[in-house]
Amino acid sequence: MIEWRQFSFLLARFGTVTLLFHFCKATKDVVVRDDGLVDVLFEDGSQRTTQLLFGCDGAHSKVREVVAGDATSLEYTGVTCLMGIAENCPIQQEGISFPSSHTTGCHSVYFPTGPNEQCFQVHWPIPVEQANSGNWGNLTDTMSKQECQALAKRLEQDGWHPRFIEPLNHVTHAVRVGFALMKPSLKKWSYGKNKRVVLVGDAAHPPVPYIGQGAQMGIEDAGTMAWLLKKLCVDSKGNFTLENFGKAVELYEKIRIPRTSHISECSEEMGKMQELRGDVDARDSLEFMIQGEVMMNGALPIMFQGVSHHYQKSVDRELRKFELEEQRNAVSVDMPGVLEPSDAERKRNAQREEEEMREAFEAMMYGTVAGQ
Ligand SMILES: Cc1cc2nc3c(=O)[nH]c(=O)nc-3n(C[C@H](O)[C@H](O)[C@H](O)COP(=O)(O)OP(=O)(O)OC[C@H]3O[C@@H](n4cnc5c(N)ncnc54)[C@H](O)[C@@H]3O)c2cc1C
Repeated sequence: MIEWRQFSFLLARFGTVTLLFHFCKATKDVVVRDDGLVDVLFEDGSQRTTQLLFGCDGAHSKVREVVAGDATSLEYTGVTCLMGIAENCPIQQEGISFPSSHTTGCHSVYFPTGPNEQCFQVHWPIPVEQANSGNWGNLTDTMSKQECQALAKRLEQDGWHPRFIEPLNHVTHAVRVGFALMKPSLKKWSYGKNKRVVLVGDAAHPPVPYIGQGAQMGIEDAGTMAWLLKKLCVDSKGNFTLENFGKAVELYEKIRIPRTSHISECSEEMGKMQELRGDVDARDSLEFMIQGEVMMNGALPIMFQGVSHHYQKSVDRELRKFELEEQRNAVSVDMPGVLEPSDAERKRNAQREEEEMREAFEAMMYGTVAGQ
C-alpha cells in the first residue's frame, strides 16, 4: 500500500512518452522563477525544476497556495460524515435513497454498488470547535465496526428503518470525514507569466459530496486539458510544443471554471436542502417539493449536472470560436472592412447554431450549463 503522503511526479518525454513516477514526496513549496521555470521543493529537502506543474494535490493543495495566495480559504461546513461499504447485507438497496431525521439531524444517502454490496454516507452536524480534521480519513477494520455500530444504535433509537441500519452492521470498510467549502471559488486556476502552474481536480474546486461529482469534475478537467493539449500543443511532426500552452490554459479556465463553479454551487445547495430535511418545520413542505420534482423528472434535476456533459465537445466549440476570431482578426488587418463570411464558413456557422440550440435545449431539460 502506498502512503497517504505520496507524491506522483510526471515526466513526459512527448513522442515516445516515458512516464516516471516518484512516490512518497510531499510538496512543501513552489517557486516560479523569472525565467518561467518552476522549482518544486519537497518536505524531504529535495527539489525539482520543471517547465510545467499540474497541481493535482487535492482539497488542501499546496500548489493552490501559489496560484491563489490568501485570496481563498477552506471553511468547515459544520457537517461530518461516516461513509462505508457494506457487504452481504440481508436488505439490499434498490436505487438511491436519501433518508433523514429531524431528531438527530442525520441526513444520508444509500445506494447499491454491486450484487451484494452497497454504499452508505451518513452525515450529521457537529459544532465547528469539535470538528477535528486530524481524525478524518480511513478507519481500521475494528474502528469501522465500532463507529458504525454506535451510529446504528443511535439511528435505531431515532426510529430509522432497518433497511438503513443493517448496512451499518455489515460494514467492511469505512471512512470518517468532514467537509469544507472553498470561499470564494477561484477565478483563475493558473499562475505565472506563461501559465505554467495549473490546478486540476479538488485542488481547483474542492467539493462538498452531495451530488457525487467531485471525482467526475476532476476527470473532466483532465480530459479537457488533454484534449486541448492534443489540439494546440502538438506540432506537425507530432511533437509536444509549449508555444500555445498559455492559450490552452486560457481555454481550459474558460471552459472549466464556470461549469465547476455551477456544480459546486448545486452541491452546496443540495447539502443545505439535505440539512433542512432534518428540520421539523421545513421538512413537510420540502418533502412535498422533492416528491413533485422526482415525479416530474424521474430524479432531482439538480443531480443531472454531469450526465449530459461531453468535455471534448466543449473544447471543440471553444476552439472553433477561437479560430473564427483569429480568422476575423486576420481579415480585418489584411482587408479592413471586408468581413463577409465564405459559403463554407456560413455552412459551418449554421451547423454550429443548430448544435448550440440543441445543447441549450438539453441544458434546459437536463440542467447542464448552456454552452458548457
Ligand atoms: C466521503 C466522500 C464521498 C465522495 N463521494 C463522491 C462520489 O460519489 N462521486 C464523486 O465523483 N466524488 C466523490 N467524492 C469526491 C472525490 O473523492 C474527490 O473529488 C476526488 O478524489 C478528487 O480527486 P483529486 O485527484 O483531485 O484529489 P485527491 O483524490 O484528494 O488526490 C490528491 C492526492 O494528492 C496528494 N497530496 C496532498 N497534498 C500533497 C502534497 N503537499 N504533496 C504531494 N501530494 C499531496 C494526496 O495524498 C492525494 O494522493 C467524495 C469524497 C468524499 C470525502
